[in-house]
Amino acid sequence: MTRRRDEMLKEMGLWPRWRLRVRGADAPIEERATANVPPDNDEPGVTHHSSSATESGITRHSSPVVTPDDRRARIMRMDWSELKACVADCAVCQLHEKRTRTVFGVGDEKADWLFVGEGPGADEDAQGEPFVGQAGKLLDNMLAAIKLKRGHNVYIANVVKCRPPGNRNPAPEEALACEPHLHRQIELIQPRLIVALGRVAAVNLLGREASIASLRGQVHQYRGIPLVITYHPAYLLRNLTDKAKAWADLCFAVDTMKGLQNRVSAAT
Ligand code: URA
Repeated sequence: MTRRRDEMLKEMGLWPRWRLRVRGADAPIEERATANVPPDNDEPGVTHHSSSATESGITRHSSPVVTPDDRRARIMRMDWSELKACVADCAVCQLHEKRTRTVFGVGDEKADWLFVGEGPGADEDAQGEPFVGQAGKLLDNMLAAIKLKRGHNVYIANVVKCRPPGNRNPAPEEALACEPHLHRQIELIQPRLIVALGRVAAVNLLGREASIASLRGQVHQYRGIPLVITYHPAYLLRNLTDKAKAWADLCFAVDTMKGLQNRVSAAT
């Protein structure tokens, strides 16, 4: 291991060893199976027929008053405050039943960097902000290691905005129901680069199943925006041997961002 990498791993809090102090009960995030649905323009499978719940501006009774396409189109026209209100009020999937708070996202609304996790845990559910628990501390250290800071040219969001009970992965229909929210957030932010944290974020943004191992080290695309993949911080807390790979992924993300910035300055 080079001295530079040792130093960076120390800065990330990843050296000599990381131990998870909280979240003992759930299975490792990367090991849990996830079936996800492509984030395309249709939302087959989201039905509101039997629900009486409302999301701001939507009334659902026993008939399909609002189709998924209507809902998506409406969300795609929202500004930040409308979108925040829509998420706060959302009752489209079952996750709303047990949430304490919705966790919309946090940071610079015009950030170049967007980090996307899977969904709130207990701490986030209590505080209403993403990545504030142990995994969040590691994420902050990872950001610091590449000279980034939460809220400064960085936005942090999740695939789902409500906590999946017991910290389970979001079910495909839950991720699908929340997908227009994330899609609109990304449209409003217009980040230069998206970093998917973990497999759940990766497969939902990519719209296809794949392992993290097969996705790392490449620049993917989310609707034309460059997307790179790394491990979820909670996974890194449990799988110490993959910490060095996460560092390599962050270096790759920084190089990718530099390349994107150079391309823009060459064109102007
Ligand atoms: N894990 C996530 O994926 N998101 C959070 O906000 C917190 C933990």
